[in-house]
Amino acid sequence: MGKSNIPQAPRSRRPPRVQAASNLKVKIGLEVHCQLTSLKTKLFCSCSSDYRASEPNEKICQVCFGLPGTLPVVNAKAVEYATMIALALNCKVANRSLFYRKNYFYPDLPKGFQISQYDKAGGVPIASSGFVDVEGKRVRITRIQLEEDPGKLTYEGTIDKSSYSLVDYNRAGIALVEIVTEPDIEDAREAKMFLEKLRSLIESLGVSNGELDGAMRCDANISLAGGARVEVKNISSFKEVEKALNYETLRQKTFSGNATSETRHWDERRSITIALRSKEEEQDYRYFPEPDLQPVLIEPQQIETVRKAMPEVAHTKATRYEKDFGLSPQFARELAANKGLSSFFDECARLDHGYQEMAGLIVGELSGREHEVSPAEFVGLVQMIESGSITRAQAKEALREALRTGKPVREVVQLKKFSAVGDERAIAALIERVVAARPDALKEAGRDKKAFNYLIGQVLKEEPKAQPAVVARLLAQRLRGKQGKKT
Ligand SMILES: [Zn+2]
Repeated sequence: MGKSNIPQAPRSRRPPRVQAASNLKVKIGLEVHCQLTSLKTKLFCSCSSDYRASEPNEKICQVCFGLPGTLPVVNAKAVEYATMIALALNCKVANRSLFYRKNYFYPDLPKGFQISQYDKAGGVPIASSGFVDVEGKRVRITRIQLEEDPGKLTYEGTIDKSSYSLVDYNRAGIALVEIVTEPDIEDAREAKMFLEKLRSLIESLGVSNGELDGAMRCDANISLAGGARVEVKNISSFKEVEKALNYETLRQKTFSGNATSETRHWDERRSITIALRSKEEEQDYRYFPEPDLQPVLIEPQQIETVRKAMPEVAHTKATRYEKDFGLSPQFARELAANKGLSSFFDECARLDHGYQEMAGLIVGELSGREHEVSPAEFVGLVQMIESGSITRAQAKEALREALRTGKPVREVVQLKKFSAVGDERAIAALIERVVAARPDALKEAGRDKKAFNYLIGQVLKEEPKAQPAVVARLLAQRLRGKQGKKT
């Protein structure tokens, strides 16, 4: 992003001094809109929510348009999913929440109002007061509300210069969960980390697929040093958030924090924010209770039922894997992020204790093919590595061959006559031969890990069946012996 893109302060002011202003405290609050893409139908009608592959304005009905005589009906599954999200974000779920009308005139709203929720003037959103911890930092969640998605506008050219726009109402009425944070985020990197965590939490609940175009969108409120709040809208993906926030923070710093309160649009193509309008005040929306809908009632008992039925979210599972099985953080994370792999691991962990070895093989070799080998067969292979009868490299080869041919793993091991050389005297002799031919590497190996690994590699090249762990141990002994002789 070139500096020339950044709008300059008015001429009457001194030239921007970004450096001097760079220590201004930045406060960022996020509003995340997450479509409940696992729902079959929209939030208030029976229109299909699978709109992405449709022609424009195909998935619409009289309820979507609020035509006279129609009445909205709340999708019960949407309430359940929103409750799951609320619980995963440590929120308090309201036993009685209300739908409100948010009135504004814009072509993306067929009814002229959006059915949403509200936290003032008697309004109660479905959940509030939660938090998400991201790498030691707590981001508080102000509230979560259920609302309908507006339609989708497509502009000719750019939003500020477009001579016309096209509207597609297939998206109008899709169930959205809006997640509002407190302004606890201090820079673009933190925002990105928070959003990634949020996305993985929501995806592991199975209620939304963030991969789908526009399924998770974000607006950001940014202020510097307690100055005016600028809202950046239309950040269409989490990837763009970091760019948009970095740009907007820098832009506001050129005003030394004296930016005007306004709504700006993130222009993805040009990578800049542009002024849309002065920020709406809440009274502009004339919120009032939706007269066509009953309050949403969720009994404490129902909340407990949802809690019990909730899938374990990925990060909780990863922490459990590290704690209970001693897995490395990387393996724990990769396993937990994949439902198929983690349930395969769970089954194997019931059969044997070689957890780290199992995790490594599963993550490295089985992705997407875990159904093609039985846990017992797989654990048998891991036991062969652990007992030293075959090497890890041989195990990987056997597994690949078994997946390729459909033969049982044990049979492949026998056919290939796999076996590890565990005879320490033979390996020690081999090490002697290898180091004698490479005196320079031997000198380095005591203090240089690379030279040490190089020597191991050379030994394995001569004897691929030698166990790397045994080679490493014997080579380390050999080096210690050598140093001992010198001193
Ligand atoms: Zn409809």
